[in-house]
Amino acid sequence: MAVPKRKTSKAKRDSRRSHHKLTAPNLTECPQCHQPKLPHHACPNCGYYKGRQAIEVE
Ligand SMILES: [Zn+2]
Repeated sequence: MAVPKRKTSKAKRDSRRSHHKLTAPNLTECPQCHQPKLPHHACPNCGYYKGRQAIEVE
């Protein structure tokens, strides 16, 4: 089996991982209850989407 000749340097290893970061989700304000919610999703707090009750929330 092929074996690496040299240990991967810190710079090579770290630059490979430079795309591994996480990004925070985009949040918009619900026009109904003014809580943060994901865009293009029904609000998890009040269940409204496009100005009407889209899902039931107790
Ligand atoms: Zn809402």
